[in-house]
Amino acid sequence: MAQVTLENVTKRYDDVTAVDDVSMEIEDGEFVTFVGPSGCGKSTTMETVAGLTKPTEGRVYIGDDDVTTLAPKDRGVAMVFQNIALFPHMDVYDNISFGLQLRTYEDEEIERRVEQAADIVQLEGMLDRMPDEMSGGQRQRVAIARAIVRNPDVFLMDEPLANLDAKLRVHMRTELQRLHRELGTTIIYVTHDQAEAMTMSDRIAVLNAGKLQQLAPPLVCYNEPANRFVAGFIGSPSMNFLEGELVDDGLETKNFTIGIDHDVVPGATIGDAITLGVRPEDVHLVEYADSLTDPTDRISARTDVLEPMGDEVFVYLLLADQAERSMDQDPASSPNQLLMSVTPDTDIQEEQSVDVVLDRSKIHIFETATGKSLAHGIVDRSDQESGPTATEAE
Ligand code: ADP
Repeated sequence: MAQVTLENVTKRYDDVTAVDDVSMEIEDGEFVTFVGPSGCGKSTTMETVAGLTKPTEGRVYIGDDDVTTLAPKDRGVAMVFQNIALFPHMDVYDNISFGLQLRTYEDEEIERRVEQAADIVQLEGMLDRMPDEMSGGQRQRVAIARAIVRNPDVFLMDEPLANLDAKLRVHMRTELQRLHRELGTTIIYVTHDQAEAMTMSDRIAVLNAGKLQQLAPPLVCYNEPANRFVAGFIGSPSMNFLEGELVDDGLETKNFTIGIDHDVVPGATIGDAITLGVRPEDVHLVEYADSLTDPTDRISARTDVLEPMGDEVFVYLLLADQAERSMDQDPASSPNQLLMSVTPDTDIQEEQSVDVVLDRSKIHIFETATGKSLAHGIVDRSDQESGPTATEAE
């Protein structure tokens, strides 16, 4: 087991900066997921840990050792990739033990390790199967067992579940969590799927355009995103964003104004362009305003499309002012939308007038120019004493 440290790691390919000055410390035994959109530098960052890529600048440490220039085989890491490369002419036992046989371990030791690994990934009784006699999930488990027998200090997994069907992926997620609990080994996991990152990891590292945006436990990224990018990437459906301005008596968007105490938006002054963020589950019908400690004033809207999901219904709202303007058939005016999530027993219909409120404690404010978080939760001047306190972005 080992700690992994990246120190100002940069990787450039000609004019592309794949990884841009990334620093982080991954604790011994931690499960950390690199997540972000395609091309954001997740795989390249992991490859610098694996030794498959040498950083242009910066250092990589595993434990106390500077491994920046070490070959992959000398780093104590084992890798599992999206494309499972099993030897088709070898049975499961030989596929799992192949690496050990190359390293001339005693037969008994090999057998002990293969059986233990097969037990962990629940492949007992299948050791004499050939790869083409197995399902995708089983083959992926062989690949994981092959990594386990090497007894690595660090597991590196690059989208290992990407080729599996949705149901199996969800099942394998829990298997990987169990594997991590049993082995206690440091795991670095790469995925573009924020749900996978949220459900499995101790901490997630959100990357965008080669830069580390935030490294924090999943719920911290969800509740206190460091910037607009993280706020929009983590959570499904995505957070609503509304452009606005800090004005004398509050926070003004095109469609409504929310009274706030300016002091709760540290670093911003009146006249600044700000972006208001609120998740669909923090938009409520006005009938439920009483259940909130600190609702905003009512906001008029019209329902557009409804999407029943089974356990919740997504309601697309058109905010009043803009909805009216859209009647003018001005193609340039697209109405401001707000997505609200409600329980399935709702009697809301499409194309109906509704009033909604936002939960002030769940409103996020971002600096429009930079996307930086300025506040998570806002309070009104009038009920400042009892309202939630704003937190300054880290
Ligand atoms: P991700 O894993 O997040 O999808 P990658 O780390 O694979 O992203 O790639 C990050 C960026 O670096 C992309 O723009 C990609 O095109 C570029 N890149 C990755 N590997 C190479 C390479 N060997 N040569 C040139 N560009 C590369």
